[in-house]
Amino acid sequence: MIYLDYQATTPLAPEAREAMLQWLDGPEGTGFGNPHSPHRMGRMAAAAIELARERVAALLPPGGRVIFTGSATEAINLAMRGSDRGQGGGIAASAIEHAAVLDTARALGQLHELEVDADGLCNTAQKLPEDVRLICVMQVNNEIGTIQSTLDWHRNAKAANALYLCDAVQAAGKVEVTSADMIALSAHKLYGPKGVGALWVRDGLELDPQITGGGQEQGLRSGTLSPALIAGFGAAAQVAKERMAEDAEHVEALWNRALDLFEGWELNGSAVARWHGNLNLRRDGLDVARLMSDCREVMFSAGSACASGSGRPSHVLRAIGLTDARAKSSIRLGFGRYTTMEELEAAAKSITSAAVQQG
Ligand code: PLP
Repeated sequence: MIYLDYQATTPLAPEAREAMLQWLDGPEGTGFGNPHSPHRMGRMAAAAIELARERVAALLPPGGRVIFTGSATEAINLAMRGSDRGQGGGIAASAIEHAAVLDTARALGQLHELEVDADGLCNTAQKLPEDVRLICVMQVNNEIGTIQSTLDWHRNAKAANALYLCDAVQAAGKVEVTSADMIALSAHKLYGPKGVGALWVRDGLELDPQITGGGQEQGLRSGTLSPALIAGFGAAAQVAKERMAEDAEHVEALWNRALDLFEGWELNGSAVARWHGNLNLRRDGLDVARLMSDCREVMFSAGSACASGSGRPSHVLRAIGLTDARAKSSIRLGFGRYTTMEELEAAAKSITSAAVQQG
């Protein structure tokens, strides 16, 4: 099997796996303690969590704190709901945000969609609603990889007296995450384990908790933390920081080769303002379901992992102006640190020959 679905999830880094093992049971069974217990085993687990917190924070700007959550979806909910503070107001969110953002804004009855252009870029000069309280524009898109200017969006938010939430799930550990009031992350998109995420909150910013109970995570997210998952997240963040340039260079080489291998396919989204580990391609008339069944040895996607399978055309591809038919004849290939050139070439051969056979 060849794995080309790095936007859905990334393989677990060996360093993250190693870090996790000792907090499942630990040397001589001393690693399973509750990190909130005051005894020695509890304090050992708590220290592992604080080390991981520092490592995750090192991927993010200075001047904020990291709150661990169960996923980025939960982090986004905490940011969007927790910043409302009973005041209401509008949420301006780009039309290509993840469902975690769009559906939460809809559920709050506060959604105002920001347009994106045919390249998948959200124009920073567009009008914001009068009552805007929060701007949500992701850094790297999960379906088409396009990169937005977070510095400009943060500046716009300040000018509008609003907060800026940056969904950096697909960016963190790959490109610098520079500027926001709140930043959402997920371990399993940066070679860490599934089931753990984080919300970075700028110092001085108060949120209302969305999960109440034991008061963990500075009262913002009650519930016993998982030292194993968090230690894995921390180790993955540390490796990602150390290898950021090397990983980007590897991805660039794969991208350049992929452009040759998929000559004749149309690229969805900007080729330039883009994370090059994302190749979203289309071919008019392509039957994607048939292609996937013909290429069972290649793991790729018909859109985002959450949207594919629903049969609905991707809201991201629709937002950049594709017709339903074109959106449905698109595929997403994602590659990264552990993808080899040979794998990419073999996958491209399988996909292109199956597509050509469709006529
Ligand atoms: N935001 C983006 C851009 C994503 O790609 C994803 C995952 O697909 C999420 C948020 C949600 O992350 P999680 O799986 O940690 O809830």
